[in-house]
Amino acid sequence: MAGRTATVAGVEVSLDHWIGGKRVSSSERFSNASPIDGSDLGAVAAGGQQEADMAVEAARKAFPAWAALGAEGRLPVLRKFADGILTRAKDIAAVETADNGSLLMGNLHRMVPRSAQNISFFAEWALGLNDHVIEHEEVINNVRYDPSGVAALITPWNAPLMLTTWKVGPALAAGNTIVIKPPEWAPLTCSLLADIAHEAGVPAGVLNVVQGIGEDAGDALVNNSDLARISFTGSTDAAKIIGQAAARSITPMSSELGGKSPFIVCADADLDAAAQTVAGQYINAGQVCLAGTRILVEASIESEFLEKVRAAVSHMAVGDPREPTTRVGPLIHPEHFARVAGFVERAKSAGAKVLWGGAKSDFGALYFQPTMFAGVKLSDEISQKEVFGPVLTWQTFGSDEEAIAIANGTEYGLAGTLFCGNEDRAMRIAAQVVAGTLWVNCFFVRDLAAPFGGSRISGIGREGGTHSFDFYCDIKNIAVRKGSFGPTGG
Ligand code: NAD
Repeated sequence: MAGRTATVAGVEVSLDHWIGGKRVSSSERFSNASPIDGSDLGAVAAGGQQEADMAVEAARKAFPAWAALGAEGRLPVLRKFADGILTRAKDIAAVETADNGSLLMGNLHRMVPRSAQNISFFAEWALGLNDHVIEHEEVINNVRYDPSGVAALITPWNAPLMLTTWKVGPALAAGNTIVIKPPEWAPLTCSLLADIAHEAGVPAGVLNVVQGIGEDAGDALVNNSDLARISFTGSTDAAKIIGQAAARSITPMSSELGGKSPFIVCADADLDAAAQTVAGQYINAGQVCLAGTRILVEASIESEFLEKVRAAVSHMAVGDPREPTTRVGPLIHPEHFARVAGFVERAKSAGAKVLWGGAKSDFGALYFQPTMFAGVKLSDEISQKEVFGPVLTWQTFGSDEEAIAIANGTEYGLAGTLFCGNEDRAMRIAAQVVAGTLWVNCFFVRDLAAPFGGSRISGIGREGGTHSFDFYCDIKNIAVRKGSFGPTGG
C-alpha cells in the first residue's frame, strides 16, 4: 500500500485520501487517537480546497462511463463490493471499534453486514427504477430516474461505515459518482472502504475519499459548484452552514440530523421488554442519533417500572468495547466528553435529581456512567438539547394527550419509541408524535426499503428504498403522445 499507513488493531489502513483511483497525500495532517485508551492511530491527511477540487474533478470525469453502464452493468461490480465488505468484516469491525469506541460485537454482527447490505440492496433495487409508466388518455408518461452527477457524502463519527454506505449504496447504484468526506474523529473505515471498492473493480474516480476537518475539507467540498447532490448526516448546527453553501448553488441537499427522541411507556405495556429496551438506550455510550433519551412513563406504573429499569441498567457494563460483555464503551473524544459532562453538571445545578450515574466512570478517561435524571421540566436544557451521551431523563404523564405534548415539546423530530399493550391506543399516540420513525413495542428495526429521516430540525428529506433514489436521481418524465408513432411504433 503506497503512501502513509498505520497498523490499527492488526490491520493496515491508509491514512491518505483516495482520489481518482490513487492514494494522495497532503502536507497538512491531523492526529487521530483511539477513545478506548487514547492510543495514537496515526496522522491522517488533512485535505482542503485543492484535494476537494481534485476529487470532484476526478468524480466528474468518471461520471459519464459509470452512468452509461446502466443498473445492470453496475450490479456485478457493486455485488463484488458488498462481498468484499463481508470478506473483510473482522478487519473492518476491529478498526471501527479502535477508531470510534463502538462495541466490537455490534460492529461485527450488525454494522458491517448492514454496510454490505447497503450496497447490494440498492444495486438490486436500481434494476427496476426505470420501469415506472403512468397511463394518461392522451400520453404515456415514462418516468425515468437518471443519475444526477457527482454527490458529496458527509458523515459523522458514531457509525461511520454504516452511515456512509447507507449513502454510497444508492448514490452509486443510481449511476452517480461520489466524494466521501469521512468524520475526522473516526476516519479509518472509510479509508478501508476505498480499498475494498477498488479491489471489487469500482472504476477510478467513481468513489473518492477526501479526509480532513469539517470546516476545511468539508467546507471546500460543499462549496464546489460542480456537485449535483450533497448528502449530509451529522449535527443540526453543521447542516445550517452546509445548507447555505447548497443554497448558493441550488444543489439539492439531504440532511439526517440530531434528535431528542421520546420513549413512551404506557401502563398496559410489556414492562419487562420496555425496561430492557430503555437500558439499551445506553449502548455505544448513548452516541446514537435515534436513542430514546426522554423516558416518559405513565404515572400509575412509575415505581414498578423504575425498579425494572434500574435492574436492567445494572447489567449495562461500562468497559472496553472490544470485550463481548461490555455494553457501554467510551465517549469519542475529550472535547465531546467535556460537552456531555457539561450537560450533566448544568442539569444538577438546575435541580435535576440523579437517579443513577451522573459522573465519570472509573474505567478510563473517556468513560461516563449510564445516567438518569428525574425532576426535570420540559423547558430545562437537559430536556431540550441533544446530549449524545449515556444520559436519559425520566418524566411521568397522566394522559395520552400529556404524553404527546411532552413528546412533541422539543425542536427535534427524528424518532420515537412507544411501548403499549393496546393497538388502537398505540396507533393513536404514534400518529400524533412528530417523528420520522416511531417504533411500537420494538426499537432500532430499520428496513432498508422504509423511509428514514427527521422532521423539524432533525432533517430534510428521507432516505431508504425509493426515497434514496428520489434524492440521488434526476427524475424525468418522457410524455409520449399515444399512437403518434403509428400502430407499429416505427
Ligand atoms: P458534525 O455535524 O460535527 O459532523 C458531521 C460531519 O460533517 C463530519 O464529517 C464533519 O467533518 C462534517 N462537517 C462539520 N462541519 C462542516 C462544514 N462546515 N462543512 C462541511 N462538513 C462539515 O456531527 P458529529 O459530531 O460528527 O456527529 C454527531 C451528530 O450527528 C449528532 O447530532 C447526531 O444526532 C447526528 N447523527 C444523525 C444521524 C441521523 O441519521 N439522523 C445519524 C448519526 C448521527
